[in-house]
Amino acid sequence: MSKKRKYDESYVKYGFCCMKESDDVEKPQCFLCGKVLANASMKSAKLIEHLKSLHPENASKDLEFFTKKKAQLLKSGTLTKLGFGIPQKPLVEESFRVAYRIAKSKKPHTIGETLIKPCALEMVELVCGLEQRKKLEAIPLSNDVIQSRIVEISCNILKQIINELKASPFPFSMQLDETTDISNCSQLLVFVRYVSADTIKEEFLLCEPLLQTTKAVDVLAILNVFFSKHDFDWKQKLHSLCTDGAPAMLGNKSGFLHLSILGRQ
Ligand SMILES: [Zn+2]
Repeated sequence: MSKKRKYDESYVKYGFCCMKESDDVEKPQCFLCGKVLANASMKSAKLIEHLKSLHPENASKDLEFFTKKKAQLLKSGTLTKLGFGIPQKPLVEESFRVAYRIAKSKKPHTIGETLIKPCALEMVELVCGLEQRKKLEAIPLSNDVIQSRIVEISCNILKQIINELKASPFPFSMQLDETTDISNCSQLLVFVRYVSADTIKEEFLLCEPLLQTTKAVDVLAILNVFFSKHDFDWKQKLHSLCTDGAPAMLGNKSGFLHLSILGRQ
């Protein structure tokens, strides 16, 4: 194991205090912006570099200024808000887990803030006490957080599916369908079936609104844009295509099947 650097009290004059994560390694944390640097950066040169490039207005201040600033921030609670001394990882992970559950149960993302958190806090306070409640309060579950977590999770899942499609040694098949949502807008739904790690997987791939017409060219355009965005030559790897048999999908001159086969040559 490599040698770990230790925090030195004198680093306060560069605007840094010390934080420890669950792995017990000391890391310098800038108390002007809250950024945590790696243990390897625990040396004067690196800390000065951060101070000078990110907080030039404070670069020439003396030790007294920084000591005062640190005391001020500690008192006002700003440091705790920036995550000082709190192991952030489980809090963030829990916020992701809640977002995942909300999305999977198709509930509005606002219930994280309006229902789940108040319930959890109440339960913990009653059963475990006030101290434990305080720990839970730090889990980020606001509307904005949940919304961005759900977006992040779905992007990640899509990336995994695309990577599996690309890595699969066999061709894949695709199923297209069209549906109309409550606002009377046509939506194209695409599912894929492929081999990954010796099992056959079926996954939902995309749902895109068909904005103008619902002709085969529009469907083909959406798929071309989608796959080129993900840098995937789908026509070479597509083996079979399944549709509901509507003319837009099947038509012999301008149907989707016809167009996509033409594009393969
Ligand atoms: Zn900083």
